[in-house]
Amino acid sequence: MNDEPRDPKSKEFSEWMGDQRRRLGIDRAVAAYTAAKEAALKRLPEMEEMRKEVRRIKEESISRMGELARQAMDSIADVKGTPYLAGDAAEARRIFCSIVGTGKLVVKSKSLTSEEIHLNGALEAAGNDVYETDLGEFIIQLRKEKPTHIINPSVHVPREEVAQTFSKLLGREVSSDIPSLVGVAREFLRDKFCKADVGITGANVVSAKTGTLFIIENEGNARFVSNAPPVHIAITGIEKVVPTLSDAFKVVQTLPPYATGVLISAYVSLVTGPSKTADIEKTIVYGAHGPKELHVVLLDNGRSEMAKDPILREALYCLRCGGCLYECPVYRIVGGSFGDNYFGGIGMVWSAFTRGDEAVAVAIDACTKCGRCKEVCPLEIDVPKMVERLKGKLVRKGHLSRKHAEIRENIERKGNPFGQSERRQ
Ligand code: SF4
Repeated sequence: MNDEPRDPKSKEFSEWMGDQRRRLGIDRAVAAYTAAKEAALKRLPEMEEMRKEVRRIKEESISRMGELARQAMDSIADVKGTPYLAGDAAEARRIFCSIVGTGKLVVKSKSLTSEEIHLNGALEAAGNDVYETDLGEFIIQLRKEKPTHIINPSVHVPREEVAQTFSKLLGREVSSDIPSLVGVAREFLRDKFCKADVGITGANVVSAKTGTLFIIENEGNARFVSNAPPVHIAITGIEKVVPTLSDAFKVVQTLPPYATGVLISAYVSLVTGPSKTADIEKTIVYGAHGPKELHVVLLDNGRSEMAKDPILREALYCLRCGGCLYECPVYRIVGGSFGDNYFGGIGMVWSAFTRGDEAVAVAIDACTKCGRCKEVCPLEIDVPKMVERLKGKLVRKGHLSRKHAEIRENIERKGNPFGQSERRQ
């Protein structure tokens, strides 16, 4: 058994716990999110039925995940897109680097899957300039930090610190007034969209039948990224593929109220193949006003393995609304140190399959299995049950926390968890 001390993150946990600045950012965001979500759900009584229907769609989709991914690839090829199936992160990075090449200006919209494969580092190492264009991601990129929430990556950065970061970028004093801060990002990024050689987005859901990518956002940056540059590359996990357009629309309706507390997001882009026109003599030409090339990378990276586990496969239903994180009492205190790329209890399952057991062996003990995440999850995903299952698997593989290892050793050697030599009478 490996009972070496393995809590390198405990220092990070304590740093977060004592960091009032980060807590302030999270507390402000949770208060705003909770009020907005409650108001949105009051106005959407039909969401009770809709979320159950989406759960049914996800159950069916995951049970047919490989077949639907292949169907989506055929459909994407039919509309002159170029599909790829990447088995793991390294293969996905190779695909991206071969499409992008070197010396390019790349703009990106928020994509958790691109972060899963550490895409930015690979593209930069290949000699490209990469700009995140989602405001939260842009802030994180400038600060050389890692995202700490799946929907709101800079949730831990209060406005005063955003002002400092932007002041440094522009070389002049920037006000901490939030609309002014948004204006700075808009001004700085505007010409990047038009000059970029390549735009990279994720996709929230994909229709297998038509090969249509759905990109949901509020800022409008993903529209620029997917439309202005001559090449658009999208990356998404194979679990995002659902059978039909109508199934995809149901996912699109369900996500926004739970993710950001809006009835529907400001923008939902549907991309089915590259831009084209047949306006002159009905001759089709690709690359009219939008991209001439569309590449779609479907990523496995542990998802097929996850689907084989009767309990952990439920993690593949996750819509990535992030609502469970705001409700998680541990996340509210230790924030971005409770996971890496994927956070909280659901993030532990995702990290175990996409990054390996070592990535979660320490952090998983932070989950109290209180069950508040399951209560707020639109799909009622049983996160505590999955965490219990994952912990069991980790322990069987020898991944015990130092304290638990001590307790086990005490029981084995002394017959009690406290290591006492004699029983007290
Ligand atoms: S587990 Fe549920 S609440 Fe948490 S991010 Fe996924 S869909 Fe949202």
